[in-house]
Amino acid sequence: MQCDPYDWIEPALNTIRRADWYRSVQAIGGKPGAVVQLAGKEVINFASNDYLGLAGDDRLITAAIAATTEFGTGSTGSRLLSGHRELHRQLEYAIASLKQTEDALVFSSGYLANIGAISAVVGKRDLILADTYNHSCLKNGAVLSGATVIDYPHKDTEVLQNLLTQQRPNFRRCLIITDSVFSMDGDLCPLPQLADLAQQFNCMLLIDEAHATGVFGATGAGCVEHFGIQNSKLIQVGTLSKALGSLGGFVAGSKLLIDFLRNRAFSWIYTTALSPADTAAALSAIAIVRSEPQRRQQLWDNVAYLKQQLPLPIIDSQSSIVCCQYSSATSALQAASQLKNAGIFAPAIRPPTVPTSRIRFSVMATHQPSHIEKLIAGLKDIRY
Ligand SMILES: *Cc1c(COP(=O)(O)O)cnc(C)c1O
Repeated sequence: MQCDPYDWIEPALNTIRRADWYRSVQAIGGKPGAVVQLAGKEVINFASNDYLGLAGDDRLITAAIAATTEFGTGSTGSRLLSGHRELHRQLEYAIASLKQTEDALVFSSGYLANIGAISAVVGKRDLILADTYNHSCLKNGAVLSGATVIDYPHKDTEVLQNLLTQQRPNFRRCLIITDSVFSMDGDLCPLPQLADLAQQFNCMLLIDEAHATGVFGATGAGCVEHFGIQNSKLIQVGTLSKALGSLGGFVAGSKLLIDFLRNRAFSWIYTTALSPADTAAALSAIAIVRSEPQRRQQLWDNVAYLKQQLPLPIIDSQSSIVCCQYSSATSALQAASQLKNAGIFAPAIRPPTVPTSRIRFSVMATHQPSHIEKLIAGLKDIRY
């Protein structure tokens, strides 16, 4: 009998296609920005995480080129071996200063920062309580840690409190993990209540500020600043690859936590250090976040202008992520495709990424009023 152990792949792909869940990539041309090239055509970009428009900023580009010229393209090793540069430490001090924490540690991506931090601070004898809408890296970090993981319904602090009352005594340590801005809906976690519960039940709290860093708070520090949370022990994770326009991730927190992560976070210890170009670009971005608050103001003005005019039901959001709801994956795909024909780039987000289909618009500080007006007109023109 001839057997092909790989013969399941094609039928599995066909199942994905039949559900309209099939995904593929599309190449962007030119520099990132409010307007980009997609398949050779100019489109208005509502699909990017580059909220402040920094990924194409000349100052970041110049910093990345200068660092590459001085230090080369690759960092050539892990931080604990040959890959560590003074530049990494400068970036870590800049992050800690922005976040008002004692120290910070940069990872090669936000994904690696989350799985590294979570799996380092809890283990088999511990409990993780997690919001059901958390990002994939929080979910996978929780699994990797070996801790008992219990999901609580999205933002439901009452259920969380009940779970803590019942379960907390059965475990050694407990860690609550949540996105601060939920990446697919754009709403905010109830951070003050979470911080209170964490304190009341002797739990650690890890907050993923991927979509909030550079965007929320008076100085752009994130939702911790936005909500005025004063807790020096908080584990704050973030990415350099969204509003900061570079690549990489970080954990910010107490000196002791960061020192512990340098010794225990396997996704930091066993991976190559951030490249000089990415490090220098992020450093330049943080300086701009701090010195140009008008970018944040422009972003919030743009968000308000878009929300005011949207002709469709939107999912509750308090951030620069605004989603229009559709009844099926097929209708969301059709709408996204008609928008693309009208010169507007915004992705349909479908199950299994999210429970309900939608088109997700990411607003940028560098969108012009005319860009937003064209989006509104495009949405009004959609035919089903
Ligand atoms: C994008 C994102 C990440 C991952 O960050 P990368 O630097 O892209 O790996 C982590 N958490 C959330 C909530 C995100 O949206």
